[in-house]
Amino acid sequence: MSKMRIDAIEIRDADIFEILLDNFPDMIHSINDDGQIVYTNKTAERLLGYSRNELATMNIRQIYADEILEALEQGFSDLKQKGDKTVESLLKAKDGSVIPVEIRSFSIYDDEGNFLRTFSILRDIREIKELQQSLVHAGRLAAIGELASGVAHDINNPLTVILLSNEMVLKETERMDDAGKESAERISSFAKDVQKASKSIQKLSEHLRNFSRGMVEKYEPVDLAMSLSDAFFITKSKLNKIGVNVFNEVQAGKYYVLGCPNHLEQVLVNLIGNACDAMQDRPTRELRIDVNPVQRDGIDYWRCDVADTGGGVPDEISEDIFQSFFTTKKMGEGTGLGLSISRGIVRDHKGELELASVAGTGATFSVYLPKLEP
Ligand code: ADP
Repeated sequence: MSKMRIDAIEIRDADIFEILLDNFPDMIHSINDDGQIVYTNKTAERLLGYSRNELATMNIRQIYADEILEALEQGFSDLKQKGDKTVESLLKAKDGSVIPVEIRSFSIYDDEGNFLRTFSILRDIREIKELQQSLVHAGRLAAIGELASGVAHDINNPLTVILLSNEMVLKETERMDDAGKESAERISSFAKDVQKASKSIQKLSEHLRNFSRGMVEKYEPVDLAMSLSDAFFITKSKLNKIGVNVFNEVQAGKYYVLGCPNHLEQVLVNLIGNACDAMQDRPTRELRIDVNPVQRDGIDYWRCDVADTGGGVPDEISEDIFQSFFTTKKMGEGTGLGLSISRGIVRDHKGELELASVAGTGATFSVYLPKLEP
């Protein structure tokens, strides 16, 4: 066996290989003709939870998930014949958990071409799989957004007809003579109800269109009270469903910033939506929103605080929550995109979005936006 000197320490080639293989980030295993495990690197211990000694007594069939055992037999015999193979598969760890892996395998043969062993490199692809699922979910959400925008567009045309016809009814009632006065008043009151309801649908459809279109990057003076009232319009049904008491201290005409109205509305919609989710199982459900002037690094900001009485954000995840795809919500209920998108939007406005509360006291999110001087 050859030797080399590194800083006066003699290391054999075999040791160098062992060190390299053990520090390789992917698991490596070697299997004989019966499927017996004849070699694993140290990463295998970390991934599967078995010690190397345990693995040395085991068969390949014991470390793969039950549902792929049939495919494993087929794959193993293909590999022995073909010489190399790359597949995605599922490992089964000692604690029973299933780990998705990408496996690159190759076979080695003796001089007569008889099969000796397979060597495989197994990459843990759990994170990739989770990311893929989140992307699929985000894609579906985007599709729903498109759909909502289409529906809103389709609602608009018949709605315009309803509103115009209703206008005619109202005009006609004004022309009715004294004899028909009483019934004219009743008709007019019904028509006004129709008008009110239709206008509310019109406003909703307008919102849906703007909200999902979302990309109009036009900066203009924005009254934060208006953004807030638009955000409440979108979240009204959620707030009512959960039974949230809203304390809105923000007065109109006082707090102006330079921004994109749709985007600022989206930030507030996300924060209010999250607050609702956090409070849905709580005895007290209160949402407080106010705006105050603050100075940071010599710059004047409006700080808009959105505070709830939910479970708050635990210290250990207080920075993670701003990462894309980080969510503690159930599959289908959270995408983990709300806060990261919102922070991106606020930073585009030269502001900052921060979690201002201490764990256990409900959550307060603060949106800092540079003041627009009148
Ligand atoms: P999502 O709402 O889809 O999970 P977000 O990026 O909006 O994505 O939020 C990420 C995570 O931050 C949530 O899953 C939740 O754990 C936490 N979070 C956000 N807002 C609140 C809040 N008001 N109270 C408690 N936790 C919150």
